[in-house]
Amino acid sequence: METTSVRVRFAPSPTGGLHLGGVRTALFNYLFARKHNGSFVLRIEDTDQTRFVPGAEQYIIDCLKWCNIAPDEGPHLDGHFGPYRQSERKATYRQYAEQLITQGNAYYAFDTPEELENMRNRFRTEANPSPQYDARVRMEMKNSLTMTAEELHQELEKKTPYVVRIKMPAGREILLNDMIRGEVRFQTDQVDDKVLLKADGMPTYHLAVVADDYAMQITHAFRGEEWLPSAPVHVMLWEYLGWKEKMPEWAHLPLILKPDGQGKLSKRDGDRLGFPVFAMDWQDPKSGDIAKGFREMGFLPEAFVNMLAMLGWNDGSGEEIFTLEELAERFSIERIQKAGAKFDFEKAKWFNQEWIKKSSVATLQPLVRTTLQANGIEAAEEMLGTIIPMVKDRCQLLNDFVQQSAYFFQDPAKPELELIKPKWDSNKTAFFEGWLEKTEATYADNAAALEAEFKEMASAAQLKVGELQLPLRIMLVGGKFGPPVFEIISLIGMEATQRRVKTALSELA
Ligand code: GLU
Repeated sequence: METTSVRVRFAPSPTGGLHLGGVRTALFNYLFARKHNGSFVLRIEDTDQTRFVPGAEQYIIDCLKWCNIAPDEGPHLDGHFGPYRQSERKATYRQYAEQLITQGNAYYAFDTPEELENMRNRFRTEANPSPQYDARVRMEMKNSLTMTAEELHQELEKKTPYVVRIKMPAGREILLNDMIRGEVRFQTDQVDDKVLLKADGMPTYHLAVVADDYAMQITHAFRGEEWLPSAPVHVMLWEYLGWKEKMPEWAHLPLILKPDGQGKLSKRDGDRLGFPVFAMDWQDPKSGDIAKGFREMGFLPEAFVNMLAMLGWNDGSGEEIFTLEELAERFSIERIQKAGAKFDFEKAKWFNQEWIKKSSVATLQPLVRTTLQANGIEAAEEMLGTIIPMVKDRCQLLNDFVQQSAYFFQDPAKPELELIKPKWDSNKTAFFEGWLEKTEATYADNAAALEAEFKEMASAAQLKVGELQLPLRIMLVGGKFGPPVFEIISLIGMEATQRRVKTALSELA
C-alpha cells in the first residue's frame, strides 16, 4: 500500500513504565499526526529480550489511552503495516542484514567478549581512550573482512556465535537535516561499526528502526535527543538499502532537565517525583521502584498532557493552558526549542490546579468520588456536587480533595486545637456554651442567618468575632482552611456542628 499522507510512529521498548520523556514523544507524534490529518502508529520495539517486561506493552497502551492520545495503528489494532511488534518481524531483519553483507556494507564478526576487551586495551591511547570497533581496528579483528571464504564457511558451519556489523564508510561527512536542529554534520570516521544483528538472531535497534520506518512508510520521526549520535548509522543504512529518498524527516526532541536546568532527569528524580504515567502492577515492591505515577498522585490527564506539551514547545503567545484539540491546532515543529526543557514539579501541579479550576463539576465528580473512596470516605452524590465547586479552587491535585472535603463527611480526627489554646479563656468557653444552647434546635440551612446571630452574640459578649470564628472553624474543619464557616455548618447540619464543638470544648477546658 502506497501512501503520501503523514505517518508518524511512537516506538517504545516494553522494558518498564512509560516516563515523562516517552509520553512527551508520543504526544508530539500525536499532535503532529492530528494537525496534518495523518496516522499515528504504535510500534513495540521488543528486540532486546533481556530487558523485556511482561505487561509493559499493555501498560503503554493504557497510558496512551488515559492521556487521550490513542494511536491509529498498533499491535492491539488493525492496520495495513503490521505486525507492529518487532519480535514478529524477525525474518525481514535477517534478510536485510544478509543483503547488506552481500553488498559489502556489513560483515560477520566472530569476536568473543575477551577479544573485544583485548582490542580495547591494545588500541587505547591518550588521544583515543576508549577505542571502538571501527575502520581503524576492524581489519585486526576476527570477522568476515579478515577471513578467507573458506574460514568463514567453516565458522558458519560450526555455528560459532556471530554478530553482523555495519561497515561505516571511511572519510565521509554525513549531513542530516533535522527539523528542530537544522543541519547536523557527522564524520563517519567518528562512528563505530554498530552491531545490526545480534548473536541471538535479533536485530539491534539500528537495523530494526530503519527497516520498520521504511516498511511502515513513516514520513516524520520524532525521538529523544539521546538518539542523535546514532543518526549517521541510520542515514547510512537508508542509503545502503537503497531507500534514501524515502527516509523520514527527523526531529530530535530536547532533553528533559531537572528544574535547576542542571543535567537530565534521572531515575532517582523519577522515584521522588513519580515519573511514570501511572503505577505499574508488575512492580516489585522490593526493587525500590515507586508505586505511584501521575495518575495516582491526582493529576488530570488533560493537565498532564498540557504540561508535557509545554516541555520544549510553546506557541509564542505566552498562553499556557490548552486543550488537546487546541494543542493539535497550534502545534508546529518550528516552535520546538533546541535547548533542554526544565521539568518543574511545582509547575506541573500549577497546570493541574488550573485544570481543576477549569473543569466542570460533572467532569470532576466521578474522579473526586473515586479519590475519596480510596481514602475510606463515602460521599453522597448530591453533597459532592455542592462541595466540589466550593473547594476546587483550593486543590492542586485530586488527592487534595481528601483534606479539603473530608470534614463534610466525618468529624475531624485531630482538630488543631493547639492553634487556639494560647488565646483561649473562660469567656470564650462561656460564649460557645451559650451559642450551643441557642442553636441546639436551629435548623442549620441558612448560613447568612447563622452568621448574623453569631456576630450579634459576639458583640453582646464584647468579644471580637474573628477570635471566635477561627476557633469555630478549627473545631469543625480540623484546621485553618476551607470555605466560609457558616456555609460549612449549613451543609454538615447542626447535629454534627454541636457534636464537634462539644468535643473541642471538653478538650479545651
Ligand atoms: N525504541 C526506542 C526507544 O525506546 C525508540 C527510539 C525511536 O523512536 O526511534 O527509545
